[in-house]
Amino acid sequence: MRSLDDFAHAKLSELEHRSLRRRLRTTHRVPEGRVERDGRSFVSFSCNDYLNLAHDPRVREAATRALHRQGAGAGASRLVTGNHDEYDALERALAHFKGSEAAMVFGSGYLANLGVIPALVGPGDLVLLDEWCHACLFAGAKLSGATLRRFAHNDARELRALLHDERPAYPRCLVLTEGVFSMDGDLAPLAEMAPLCETHDAWLLVDDAHGFGVVGAGGRGSAHVGDAPVRVPLQVGTLSKAGGSYGGYLCASAVVVELLHSRARTGVYSTGLPPATVAAARQALEIIEDEPWRGERAVAQAQAFAACLGLPRPQSAIVPVLLGSARRSLAASAFLEERGFLVVAIRPPTVPEDTSRLRFAFHSAHRPEDVVGAAEALKLFLAGYAGP
Ligand SMILES: *Cc1c(COP(=O)(O)O)cnc(C)c1O
Repeated sequence: MRSLDDFAHAKLSELEHRSLRRRLRTTHRVPEGRVERDGRSFVSFSCNDYLNLAHDPRVREAATRALHRQGAGAGASRLVTGNHDEYDALERALAHFKGSEAAMVFGSGYLANLGVIPALVGPGDLVLLDEWCHACLFAGAKLSGATLRRFAHNDARELRALLHDERPAYPRCLVLTEGVFSMDGDLAPLAEMAPLCETHDAWLLVDDAHGFGVVGAGGRGSAHVGDAPVRVPLQVGTLSKAGGSYGGYLCASAVVVELLHSRARTGVYSTGLPPATVAAARQALEIIEDEPWRGERAVAQAQAFAACLGLPRPQSAIVPVLLGSARRSLAASAFLEERGFLVVAIRPPTVPEDTSRLRFAFHSAHRPEDVVGAAEALKLFLAGYAGP
């Protein structure tokens, strides 16, 4: 269609002009957190495989066994015939690990939020969410049709005011935040937020995509960072980052999970995950439980890097280096790439205007010299590049 292609051309050139066009690059990830692109090898700071489990021989072996035993695909949605036995093993293990009554695995973290939120609230209900929430929390909230109000990032006082002023007018209220914020690496003040939500009968949903396996006692996530675990009734996360595999999860009470089996549309109307994928996640979870040093090491790498640059001490495996414009971030990324470090520039709309950045993600297999080398290269860029 002529008008369709014209539309696409016009949109693309507008994005190009604003340094916001994105391009796929074929990337070959190899063990120990390195990647190959166009025949060159890089140390990657842009993989979320924080514990280096995607290539772990035990994980690959578990996936291979399931593949041979059960085939490549689930064949139907879980409610029909796609609920293979790998699901039950993983969900039991997840619930046990997270200290919840039950767990439900979804096609991805994105699909978990898209399924869970609209199943619990709808038009006439209220959703309060942190302004920095991930796109899929916003998408789930919008899809629900509930009234949306954002609060300033990690501002428990504003949340309290909103709960006080607005909550009484709505039958149900959901509060959404991230445990570890994906683009900034900071933690939500859950110990403050959870009691507030309880007081106002609001249901707290925490997306711990970057906390699972990395932070909290033994990698149990951001609800387990303090002395006593924080009670979070809806804990969402992904199996695709520290989990080394693919899929999303919700940990909640047994009755809530039971309801979602019937009502979460991304579960009901989407094919089950391949058995090998679920088996890999199950094996990865076992390793997370047995080898807590992996998560600790990922965070320690981030802290060593931040110390080199005089940045605040990170609480997670993520360190953002804010550069302002999209152009400057792309230039920094190219500068590091020339020196063998892969750090993808993060630009709007993923982050707000003028907060484009390099987002460094650390993992358990980074070598000390890689961490220091990347910090030194970045210092060089910051000293020499005075562009816009
Ligand atoms: C990555 C991410 C997701 C999406 O998880 P997938 O399993 O990759 O779909 C959801 N929420 C947050 C906060 C994330 O960072």
